[in-house]
Amino acid sequence: MTMAVQGTGVSRGIAIGKVHIARRHQLEISQRAIRNELVEQEVMRFRKAVADARAELREVRDRIPPSTPAEVLEFIDAHALMLEDGALTEPPAQAIRDLECNAEWALQVHRNRLAAVFDDMDDPYLASRIDDVDQVISRIQRHLMDETDAEGERHENYRGIVLVADDLAPADLTLLYHNGLAGLVTEFGGPLSHTAILARSLKIPAAMGVHHARQLFLEDEQVLVDGGRGIVIADANRTVQSHYRARLRAIRKHQRHLDRLKDEEAVTRCGTRIMLEANLDLPADLELVGGCGAEGIGLYRTEYLFLNRPEPPSEDEQYESYVEIINSMHGRPVTIRTMDLGADKPLPGRSQRGDIPVNPAMGLRAIRLCLNDHSLFIPQLRAIVRAASAGPVRLMIPMVSTAQELFQVKNLLKLTIRDLKREGHEVPERMPIGAMIEVPAAAIAAGTIAKYVDFLSIGTNDLIQYTLAIDRIDDQVSYLYDPLHPSILRLLQMTIEAGANADKEVSMCGEMAGDPRYTRLLLGMGLRDFSMHPGGILEVKQVVKATHLDEIQPYIRRIMRATNPLRISTLVREMNSL
Ligand code: PEP
Ligand code: MG
Repeated sequence: MTMAVQGTGVSRGIAIGKVHIARRHQLEISQRAIRNELVEQEVMRFRKAVADARAELREVRDRIPPSTPAEVLEFIDAHALMLEDGALTEPPAQAIRDLECNAEWALQVHRNRLAAVFDDMDDPYLASRIDDVDQVISRIQRHLMDETDAEGERHENYRGIVLVADDLAPADLTLLYHNGLAGLVTEFGGPLSHTAILARSLKIPAAMGVHHARQLFLEDEQVLVDGGRGIVIADANRTVQSHYRARLRAIRKHQRHLDRLKDEEAVTRCGTRIMLEANLDLPADLELVGGCGAEGIGLYRTEYLFLNRPEPPSEDEQYESYVEIINSMHGRPVTIRTMDLGADKPLPGRSQRGDIPVNPAMGLRAIRLCLNDHSLFIPQLRAIVRAASAGPVRLMIPMVSTAQELFQVKNLLKLTIRDLKREGHEVPERMPIGAMIEVPAAAIAAGTIAKYVDFLSIGTNDLIQYTLAIDRIDDQVSYLYDPLHPSILRLLQMTIEAGANADKEVSMCGEMAGDPRYTRLLLGMGLRDFSMHPGGILEVKQVVKATHLDEIQPYIRRIMRATNPLRISTLVREMNSL
């Protein structure tokens, strides 16, 4: 019998696939039986992964710049020693033989045993050393994942799979994307969570907030995910199937129509040129950016380079990644945002402080983390400055809340440029610096902040989260998320005006910029530069091209005067239908 369940649609598109139910933190590692005659081969695979992890660590050690603080070297040495230690590497080999299971599972079983021992330790410092064990183990796991197992299968093949999970971290979604995931259903999470944003940019149809999904759907059953409407359907009958086939045809037709706009300029009917740029989460999305006619990258979320790995990428690795992106844009500007780690994108191995729960979205996140830990920040600044010789780069700072933070960044940047010059590196003559306006305090003080930067970029995802006090990953309060809330409109207006008064460019790179329902409103408020997930560019361009700024001005005045959210949304709808 057909069963349909409703959640929140967070990433449009229709996925049809088989359900795989995941439990939190168990996504990557599952147990599989290994046939008796293949057990020794599996042990060999495990030993090879350990050897590869050792070699990798030696290489990291050799590539470390001489200026690296001694603690970092000690840290790497400690990990290398663990990889030499039979106490870590022998029990999993034995478990593969005893349990006749895959190496990943055997290693995880051993990890859990060790974690129990560390948990029992009274000394909090010693207990926290499980973090080191975890980092070493995930290094081995990563090497195992690059291999095929003894049964000759790539064990993480998600092609044709709709993952049904309680929740999913952005880092996990990036892994699953590379393994071919067809669709995503989660019990928790809202449309502004980084996982939802990532699903949109990776074009993975997704529904979130589908409560009790793991009880409602069965492993391996065929489901259909309507990621636009947030509906998940199991056992679809013929009527439903033909409805969705027709919808798929309509979506494809609409896309073909939009594709024709790809090479056209984004100009309003009254002749105002609008800049439409793409947000980039993973270098793997560069193909999507190329395919949508983006005029630049208005936000590159560099933090994804730091996830799913035990140690941060080296300066050289970051440099190479940035240069690849800059080269692929062929002279169009690339806005590199310094890492926004913390909150739902924690730095691997960093655990929460103490026993008292803290709110990570308000804690050591983004620029706060960077200013607190120069060993993370300086290699990134060096890599960005070096890469900026390859093409036009704009440096963007996330979560700025005071001008003081910008002074510190500029000072560090000055010292970085001085060091790079002394070392004989090429440095760009000019690299514009911008501040993200995503904390209400920054929007209110946008006039002051604008004095110290070359551009402002409005991050509506966080600006709405912090202004309306709604956690962007909590589906229970996502009904309160409202870009048209009068307070949000005031903050947007203040920021756009502050930029205009200081003669500084203002762009928007939050999700609001990619939602065609808000394009006219933002144009009418004076926004001229929009950056969004690549899939949104052509739809927004279509609205831009159909808009005459003089025609919408009377509506904008009424919208900005209105105080009732319902009245505002009615006026926006009327303006959109002009
Ligand atoms: C934002 O907050 O609007 C933004 C673009 O940054 P992120 O979504 O990465 O927090
Ligand atoms: Mg943000």
